[in-house]
Amino acid sequence: MTADAAAPDYPEITHEHPDVTGGWLRPAVFGAMDGLVSNLALIAGVAGGTRGNADSSAVVLAGLAGLAAGAFSMAAGEYTSVASQTEAAQREIDKERREIVSNPKAEIGELAEMYVDKGLDRELALEVARQIHVDVDRAVAVHAREELGVDPDDLASPMLAAGSSFLSFAVGALLPVLPYLVGASSLLPGLVVTLVALFVCGAVVTQVTSRSWWFGGFRQMLLGGAAAALTYGIGSLVGSSGLG
Ligand SMILES: [Zn+2]
Repeated sequence: MTADAAAPDYPEITHEHPDVTGGWLRPAVFGAMDGLVSNLALIAGVAGGTRGNADSSAVVLAGLAGLAAGAFSMAAGEYTSVASQTEAAQREIDKERREIVSNPKAEIGELAEMYVDKGLDRELALEVARQIHVDVDRAVAVHAREELGVDPDDLASPMLAAGSSFLSFAVGALLPVLPYLVGASSLLPGLVVTLVALFVCGAVVTQVTSRSWWFGGFRQMLLGGAAAALTYGIGSLVGSSGLG
């Protein structure tokens, strides 16, 4: 047969595609923004509630605890979400494999009909399906892609997803506390650093949307600033009420 014959000399492909899903950058930026906003808001609340205290150790403690708690919680959530998705896909792939082994004629017919739907002649479609089914692994991969929309060799890794969301949240959450760690005694430096970082993150996200970068940047900065102002206000109220 001709299946293994050398490929003919096709003209060269003259275009490339960027990764339209945004790849790793998008989730990393969202994780960092999450850390920036939630930890800025957290320490703003504590700073508001402990106003007038000479030392800022409560703010630093809250900031580091918030960093650890948030990063672990993000990682756990991401792990569970990706693991359940991957397990569900794996279960369907296993089901498909059992069908392909025990009922190959029906599965060849099913695949052939899909190719007929894509515009191939029935006879050619049947021949393509038969050749794909010569190898069970290849048949499973093709069925999984056509019927489930997944690549069995490239299922998302829950550990990788958990690790990267842990890291990106932690990096974002560190920034608001960082000035305190190097000697600052007020919220202001951390606030400025965080708002600048939020602007950058918001601007980066617009690379995959159609918004202008400055709109995305300002929007993110305003949201973060509003969250911090709100918790600062709440902290001040609680602090001055004597509850804090
Ligand atoms: Zn199938």
